[in-house]
Amino acid sequence: MTFQAPKGTFDWLPPRSERALAVREAMSAPARLAGYGYIETPTFEDTALFARGVGESTDIVSKEMYTFEDKGGRSITLRPEGTAPVVRAVLQHGLHNGRLPVKLWYSGNNFRYERAQKGRYRHFSQVGVEALGAEDPALDAEVILLAVDGYAALGLTGVRLLLNTLGCKECRPAYRAALQGFLRGLDLDDATRQRAELNPLRVLDDKRPEVQAQLAGAPLVTDHLCGACKAYHEEVRALLTAAGVSHTDDPRLVRGLDYYTRTTFEFVHGGLGSQSAVGGGGRYDGLSEMIGGPALPGVGWAIGVDRTVLAMEAEGLFGEEEPPGPVQVYGVPLGEDARRRLFLLLTELRRAGVAADMAFGGRGLKGALKGADRSGASYAVILGERDLAEGSAQVKDLASGEQIAVPLAEIVTTLKERLTT
Ligand code: AMP
Repeated sequence: MTFQAPKGTFDWLPPRSERALAVREAMSAPARLAGYGYIETPTFEDTALFARGVGESTDIVSKEMYTFEDKGGRSITLRPEGTAPVVRAVLQHGLHNGRLPVKLWYSGNNFRYERAQKGRYRHFSQVGVEALGAEDPALDAEVILLAVDGYAALGLTGVRLLLNTLGCKECRPAYRAALQGFLRGLDLDDATRQRAELNPLRVLDDKRPEVQAQLAGAPLVTDHLCGACKAYHEEVRALLTAAGVSHTDDPRLVRGLDYYTRTTFEFVHGGLGSQSAVGGGGRYDGLSEMIGGPALPGVGWAIGVDRTVLAMEAEGLFGEEEPPGPVQVYGVPLGEDARRRLFLLLTELRRAGVAADMAFGGRGLKGALKGADRSGASYAVILGERDLAEGSAQVKDLASGEQIAVPLAEIVTTLKERLTT
């Protein structure tokens, strides 16, 4: 019997897996330049952290969590998102008692029991940033710019920024009530009615056409903002515009997690079909208190690594060619003594920073040279018993076919020179 990866999961295999690494690298580089430190939290947490932090009425908590009881009888949940764990860690270690804002970035896997389709998986990977302990429109703008610059560094041109504000605890209750009043007058199924009572903003996020059609006249949060929220939002927009970041105001943008306040945003890409969000985030000033901490404002985002790779592929950023093979030099030993000597030579080459591999398993010259071609290496080093007796090896340029004998003691310097010119 052979096994398959579980439904909704997939394997990143080389050479395509390099693309995922490139996305993680590019999306975290701007954060590192802006003083964000790397944080790694456990892959699982107490279930209650997500139930309280993400919100009982969200799809994530009500339907999608991988929850189980461990052998000690604790309820454990595989991390469905990265923000609540980061805030938990900040509070646990008192990072918020030091210099503010606390700036952190992370990279890791998340787990959600979702309906699997292209771009939506049960196991997926995110890079995220969080900045805690300051409520400042410049911090919201900084955080957004970190993502904008990351996408730009990857060469993506089709990412659009959708921007909204959700108000604060002063102005949101009145908006919530107005929206609830409106939703009560619509023709909705029981589950959606229930949701309208629990968390009416989330109904705006309902993607079903029969629901969307009825939402055309829904009251907009932007018409119910208090003065402070309005001014805050205007400042975020002005800072983004000054930094050359274009954005689209989307007063319906609410996102799927309960903890957002004020600035909310999403990055979407046109080349991905229905799963168009490549990243999203916002301000979550109430989250710390929801999980038992002091008032601690925060703002952050998470970008989907898998979907960002799909977006880059949709834009043709990797071309037709697969990335070049990972080695520069390929060793071809002919005979046991030659194998031992070549093994040492390859070790020397690698220690000198040259990527090198060799034929394993006692293949003949023809098979080993085929391996050399497949490896994508620029040079083969062929070592036979006679070469060994003469203290030299054959260095073959695999592009031109030219072959020369080089003394064993000079192989490393010769190859290093040739590879750098
Ligand atoms: P969220 O935590 O839901 O705000 O998601 C942030 C980003 O993570 C989204 O914009 C997606 O790019 C990515 N993402 C969320 N859920 C999934 C999933 N099930 N599969 C793949 N990517 C996802």
